[in-house]
Amino acid sequence: MATDAICLEGVNTFYGESHALHDLSLSLRAGSVLALLGRNGAGKTTTLHSIVGFQPVRSGRIALFGEEVAALAPEDIALKGIALVPQGRRVFRSLSVRENLTVASRIPAGARFTLERIYDMFPRLKERAKQNAGSLSGGEQQMLAIARALLTNPRVMLCDEPSEGLAPRVVEDVGAALSQLKSEGLSVLLVEQNTRLALALADHVAILNTGRLAFFGTVAEATAKDDFLVQQLGVH
Ligand code: ATP
Repeated sequence: MATDAICLEGVNTFYGESHALHDLSLSLRAGSVLALLGRNGAGKTTTLHSIVGFQPVRSGRIALFGEEVAALAPEDIALKGIALVPQGRRVFRSLSVRENLTVASRIPAGARFTLERIYDMFPRLKERAKQNAGSLSGGEQQMLAIARALLTNPRVMLCDEPSEGLAPRVVEDVGAALSQLKSEGLSVLLVEQNTRLALALADHVAILNTGRLAFFGTVAEATAKDDFLVQQLGVH
């Protein structure tokens, strides 16, 4: 049986008394891409933050490669091999590109992602290594945010709306970078408003509606339910 990189079972997350995630169960199969979709406020970021421990879960189970992590502190969850590329990139604008890459890097002997490898994958970052990250374009900052997460050598990447605010041509570059991660065998949980991009990259799709799972299935199953996608996501 295929291992799950991430498995949520009956997760409930609250902000104070506000119930944000309702009995959420979903899984990301190892080596695959799961697109997590839903309208604004559906609970996508809350799901990612519950997984990485930024937002404590009130009940339910979260397993990373079979190991329960829901009760751990965020730094301990990160050490299990999970990296979040946050919404809005959140690069350190006054640090150089190189400093952004090395400040939290984790590169054990024999690691797949080294600074050299990252510079091969993202030549623009190499060209701009000494520049302040704040001077990069939005697309370059997104690549930097992805590269920074890769340099922790994770087993699982969570990407929160990587295409947000980017021009269509740059969205293609982001798609190509994510596609490369998939071909490297990384497990990726991708939150996107750009349904087309998400469906092009993903193996499976989960759709949230007001903190509840409205759909979970393969991309083929999701696209066969065209009317349902339009109703849930407002896309054509
Ligand atoms: P978006 O696409 O707009 O980023 P989302 O699907 O990621 O939306 P969340 O940000 O997870 O949705 O929000 C889920 C619900 O939780 C929403 O009702 C939101 O208002 C609420 N919420 C999110 N963050 C907080 C917070 N810090 N305090 C209180 N409520 C919050």
